[in-house]
Amino acid sequence: MSHRMILGAGMTGLSAGIRTGVPVYEAETSPGGICSSYYMLPGDTTRFTNPSDSSPYYRFEYGGGHWIFGGDPELLSFIEQYSPLKRYARSSAVLLPESGTYVPYPLQYHLSHIAPQAQERALQELTASSQGHIETMADWVRLQFGATLNALFFSPFHELYTAGLWTKIRPQDNYKTPLDKQLVIQGAEGKTPDVGYNAEFVYPEHGLDQLALQMASQCDIHYGHRVTRIDITQKHVHFENGHTASYDHIYSTLPLSHMINMTGLSPTQPADPHSSVLVLNIGAERGPRCPNEHWIYVPESKSGFHRVGFYSNVDPHFVPDNNPDLASLYIERAFLPEEKPSDEQIMAYKRTVEEELRAWGMIEDVAVNDATWVDVAYTWSWPGSTWIDEAISLLKEQNITMLGRYGRWHFQGIAASIKEGMAL
Ligand SMILES: Cc1cc2nc3c(=O)[nH]c(=O)nc-3n(C[C@H](O)[C@H](O)[C@H](O)COP(=O)(O)OP(=O)(O)OC[C@H]3O[C@@H](n4cnc5c(N)ncnc54)[C@H](O)[C@@H]3O)c2cc1C
Repeated sequence: MSHRMILGAGMTGLSAGIRTGVPVYEAETSPGGICSSYYMLPGDTTRFTNPSDSSPYYRFEYGGGHWIFGGDPELLSFIEQYSPLKRYARSSAVLLPESGTYVPYPLQYHLSHIAPQAQERALQELTASSQGHIETMADWVRLQFGATLNALFFSPFHELYTAGLWTKIRPQDNYKTPLDKQLVIQGAEGKTPDVGYNAEFVYPEHGLDQLALQMASQCDIHYGHRVTRIDITQKHVHFENGHTASYDHIYSTLPLSHMINMTGLSPTQPADPHSSVLVLNIGAERGPRCPNEHWIYVPESKSGFHRVGFYSNVDPHFVPDNNPDLASLYIERAFLPEEKPSDEQIMAYKRTVEEELRAWGMIEDVAVNDATWVDVAYTWSWPGSTWIDEAISLLKEQNITMLGRYGRWHFQGIAASIKEGMAL
């Protein structure tokens, strides 16, 4: 009999489990990974999954707001088998803290919103032809956007977003910050259409947790099975709960670096880096200057965060009783993994964030402030590194196929993750 197994019941593992019927082993007790919703009551610190009564819950997601971008019709109809979807047009902005201005995203296509002198300089820099040696993300960002927009936004934002790695890693995901010179000129005249990779998105009508639970109901999932070691000679997977399972073939959605460590394989190249994210989910009274955008990119904050999202600006069902006087927010701050803050530091950080958001007029009284540490959040590469290919092929030689955003160590969202699982 063939022993195949899938590791991880996030979106990739769930869709792979549905398509193949292969058993899924998951560390946690519920499906969906960081893209799953949970619920909290004002003034309480308990996280509820799948609450059954109509108490006034805030709904959050472990990894902060997770909106489904770029799904093609086949993918969307796959998802709709499990949950009805609602459609939204993105509304996001860049906050320029010095002037307190919100400039619609992407900044480079909305120059009419910045001060006239800076506007003129930025327009010249963006439309001039720029050439130079590009080795790192910082080289690319500086060359692409010119001195003025770099000083205003791009440099400090990338420093925060990559936890300082941007001067050492190679450029990637350039499509997230496009540069069409025609649109730059139109934007300076105040008429840019909504553009970018995430101009529209969908979200499950009853929450991502319901989508994950419905998908999971079609899979054979073994919860509470955290893999700790894989014996590639005996072909045994060892779990933290003491169980062992034998395999012929593994399909793993776990981070590539963890799989290399757990199998004891040794690529010749040093591992590529990743950054972690500390997500705060806050439920509060809506402040007098709370913006209406779905999320805001922040290049500078006293607390060190780089993005503030507003679940309740996407849909009112994220706050108790759909109350328009309440807001639910997610705040993301990047860290190097080795700089994970202690519990005391997280407590202090929570207070600083609350003060800062209050000072910005985004919130008033806070009812809930809940933190999640996402250890492998953003995956990067050193310039010239071939570690990813080498690690994936070493695992492949041992009948271990890597799947998904973290398995293949490359940027992708939920839609692409589900699609990859479906293709298995
Ligand atoms: C801060 C942040 C914001 C994001 N926002 C968006 C967004 O708005 N829209 C979007 O489309 N995408 C977003 N993403 C990306 C999205 O989270 C990923 O595309 C998606 O989670 C990938 O799913 P996955 O199943 O491949 O991985 P995961 O969700 O990581 O699933 C892996 C599963 O493996 C389990 N696991 C881990 N270790 C073990 C172990 N040792 N043993 C057993 N099981 C284990 C985990 O518990 C998890 O359930 C965001 C990512 C981050 C970090």
